Amino acid sequence: MVDCSNFPTVAERIFHLRRDVPPSVRIIAVTKTVSIHLMREAYDAGIRDFGESRLQEAIAKQQALADLPNITWHLIGHLQSNKAKQALQHFQWIHSVDSVAIAQRLNQLCTDLGISPKVCLQVKLSPDPNKFGWTAQELLEQLPRLCALKHLSIQGLMTILPLNLSPVQQLSTFQSVTDLAQRLSQNPQTPLPITELSMGMSSDYALAIQAGATMIRPGRILFGEREKTLLP
Ligand SMILES: *Cc1c(COP(=O)(O)O)cnc(C)c1O
Repeated sequence: MVDCSNFPTVAERIFHLRRDVPPSVRIIAVTKTVSIHLMREAYDAGIRDFGESRLQEAIAKQQALADLPNITWHLIGHLQSNKAKQALQHFQWIHSVDSVAIAQRLNQLCTDLGISPKVCLQVKLSPDPNKFGWTAQELLEQLPRLCALKHLSIQGLMTILPLNLSPVQQLSTFQSVTDLAQRLSQNPQTPLPITELSMGMSSDYALAIQAGATMIRPGRILFGEREKTLLP
């Protein structure tokens, strides 16, 4: 694990994180509440994937960074139906598809807009009333309806762990997401080919990678602690 307090600059933290992460794992730098200045430092250090949880904040940053080519923007926060169109216009990836209703809304908009964005389905495999997302059972039940959404490119599962798990529980929860992806992919009636696993944040990315994560979402480890008033 990289301890960012050991390294004074964003560039150094990115360098050390990269050395700790297999090259096949995509690092999505989570930049909610992070300044444009630090985002430019991250870009200069090679980051091309940015994760934001709020639409308005992300749009302002996209305008401020419009001179930087080849950025992929990832929406990682809960998406409300009335903002779905804007989300599609501003993000190449949506990690936080957490209900059939929002999935159907996105699919309809994609039909109209003629696009096919990449999305992840957000799951919660450890009970957590404060988190959005499907349980494994709900997802398996709703699989036929999700498979019918031809304009959504459903590529992955995303998860956020509850706060109070032990490392052993963290690892086993990540592994159950990996297992669920396999069950969805191999479902005989309605197979949903899941190839991406978006899991692991600053404190648990190493365990997520051990369990098969293909995309990790570190924030504080690269940019320092966020102002508590500005969470999540
Ligand atoms: C804030 C956030 C992160 C990053 O969390 P850190 O603890 O700062 O690494 C990752 N994923 C999601 C969905 C988040 O909301």
